[in-house]
Amino acid sequence: MSKDAANRLICRIGGAVQGVGFRPFVYRLATELGIRGRVSNSTAGVDVEAEAGRRTLDEFLKRLRADAPPAARILSFEFSFHQPAGFQDFRIDPSEDGGEKTAMPMADIATCPQCLSEIHDPATRRFAYPFTNCTQCGPRFTIMTDIPYDRPNTSMRAYDLCPACAAEYENPRDRRFHAQPLACPACGPRLSYCSRSGEPIDCPDVLGRAAEDIRSGAVVALKGLGGFHVMADARNLAALARLRQQKPREYKPFALMFPDMEAVKLHCFVDGLEELLLTGPEAPIVLLKKRPGSGLPDIIAPGNPLLGCMLPYTPLHVLLLERLGGPVVATSGNLADEPICIDEHEALSRLPFADFFLLHDRPIVRHADDSVARVVDAQVMMLRRARGYAPRSLPAGRSLPRVLATGGDLKNVIAISRHDDIVMSQHIGDLEAAEAFDAFQRVIADFRKLFSWTPAVVAADMHPGYFSSRFARDVAQQEGIALLEVQHHHAHMAACMFENGLEGDVLAVTWDGTGYGTDGTIWGGEFLAGSYKSFKRVAHLHPFTLAGADAAVREGRRSALGVLLEAGAPQSPLDEMFSPDELSGMRSMIATGFNTARTTSAGRLFDAVSAIAGICRSSTCEGQAAMMLEFAARGELGEPYPFELYEQDGVRVLDWRPAVAAMLAGRDACLISRRFHATLVEMIRSAARSAGMPRVVLSGGVFQNALLLARTRRALLQDGFEVYTHQWIPTNDGGIALGQILVAAHRQAG
Ligand code: ZN
Ligand code: ZN
Ligand code: FE
Repeated sequence: MSKDAANRLICRIGGAVQGVGFRPFVYRLATELGIRGRVSNSTAGVDVEAEAGRRTLDEFLKRLRADAPPAARILSFEFSFHQPAGFQDFRIDPSEDGGEKTAMPMADIATCPQCLSEIHDPATRRFAYPFTNCTQCGPRFTIMTDIPYDRPNTSMRAYDLCPACAAEYENPRDRRFHAQPLACPACGPRLSYCSRSGEPIDCPDVLGRAAEDIRSGAVVALKGLGGFHVMADARNLAALARLRQQKPREYKPFALMFPDMEAVKLHCFVDGLEELLLTGPEAPIVLLKKRPGSGLPDIIAPGNPLLGCMLPYTPLHVLLLERLGGPVVATSGNLADEPICIDEHEALSRLPFADFFLLHDRPIVRHADDSVARVVDAQVMMLRRARGYAPRSLPAGRSLPRVLATGGDLKNVIAISRHDDIVMSQHIGDLEAAEAFDAFQRVIADFRKLFSWTPAVVAADMHPGYFSSRFARDVAQQEGIALLEVQHHHAHMAACMFENGLEGDVLAVTWDGTGYGTDGTIWGGEFLAGSYKSFKRVAHLHPFTLAGADAAVREGRRSALGVLLEAGAPQSPLDEMFSPDELSGMRSMIATGFNTARTTSAGRLFDAVSAIAGICRSSTCEGQAAMMLEFAARGELGEPYPFELYEQDGVRVLDWRPAVAAMLAGRDACLISRRFHATLVEMIRSAARSAGMPRVVLSGGVFQNALLLARTRRALLQDGFEVYTHQWIPTNDGGIALGQILVAAHRQAG
């Protein structure tokens, strides 16, 4: 077996899978397929490890869910692929006493097949009822007000059970025995419809009316599970154009919701793993490759070969999508990077571009955006962990101090550690938006209350200006506890090590847009050697100067200016990007150092190359220029450009200046992108070789780039390195809080 085969599957199945013959079922299935490994009970359900050829593992994975014993209730399903551990046979491990069990709030679960068939069966009392659920599905985290998870501790407390529902609730043999959000048309929540001004619209068939309005081009705001969606017909160009203009969002892709799997397959290519994700209990948005001639307007995701697709995950969505009979854009109900809106009064004021509001009277207790995942190189890549995944506990396998980690300011997520696990919050957003910073504070207060938890230590990013760091400083001061500042890329590294169960020393390639460095400059093209406890910066990209440090995040041409000046390039490419006045202003900024920053950011280097190649010179959202550059390569590498490796004060510096000089010779965007990606792969390879450490972890937002990730992994494996990447923890700043916890915990341990 070649060393690169990630032929060990780890599958963590949560839910009521104990005591229903699940482990013998796994054993029989594994034996039938000739798989080696083990199955054991965990506190949350069952853990499976399986080794075989990759095709066999894919088949095994599919059947684990499809053929599970009828009494098994699979409430969560996470799988990842790793290097083989060398199992000789398949065994059922004896149950360990899971130790102290702590009450753990559960994530929301997509509608189960039995509830689906009930809402479609006119003979049942829940026919066409949008709030149908049972113990296997339905809202959890988004309706819970306290622990334990009992009806009085949910936003269903206001609804008294009717006799029929009460009988189900009390019958141990019923599927709805102790189903806390249980409801029916006689006693449960109801839909309503209103105009933009909040004026109720009386209609007997709310869903029919909403579907009709959407079909005729209206934008409808829908109160869903973890917040509001804004919906428009995905085939109606005029409605979409209006939505783009009003939201306002020029480039950032809109997500789509399809009535069913067949409809998804009509418009996108879907492989086995992607289908497992889409149809799983977590039901995330999955980025899928668009079929040529899919017929969906490009404005949904301009210039993007991928479409973010999801399936309806509540009966409300199911019933509405059935009425529509085709895909809708279902984008989160917010402006730009604010958190998703959860309350109707707020929605009416924050979503003024919606023509109608489809509402219900079950309060949403806390926000949970749709999660976003992608399959890259036959592995899951989680981009946003929120609905369905939060607040899932991550077992640490050791005792940890109580750390509150406040994360970073972009794609913020917070995390806490309890005795032997870590809990990550749902995605919060970019904290510069006041609403997002409010949500950040709310989530922290919420976690403290929900888990009856107080921190012993606070961990924060080293960035002195981050809102999340200032907040952490205040908490530490007010509560008289220690504050540990964790370098941004060290946190990325620790998150990736944790996800892969690594201890000891590794080389971490941490590439992203922005992270405050220990020398006060902006890092982002880093090679760190070390452990959870400490690191040494062993190599980095050659730095350049950004004019108008913050503006440069959105304006790729500013990065290009810094890069071209640093490379001593001729004047002509700059004249294309700037007016003479702009250029002289920026030149003087760089000359005087006023409002500039030195950076080794790989993300900004991507922006620069994207601008030089004429692909994107200013963006409307972070990462746009880099994404467009990635797409321009159309999945292939070219001949690497020349580059150099020099040493400065014992640190290796990867010098891209020769590459930029060579790039200016030809201006074909596709070729530049292919050659640039190849250059980066070679740079990483040469830095890894000179660091000489056998284990390499790849982390940071730049590795959301599928081409770079897949090709770097391949190159490093070929060179004999063990390569570790993210699967279920975001490689972007959504993973920072998790990393902060580990670094802080190891430092506390002394
Ligand atoms: Zn159900
Ligand atoms: Zn009822
Ligand atoms: Fe980062």
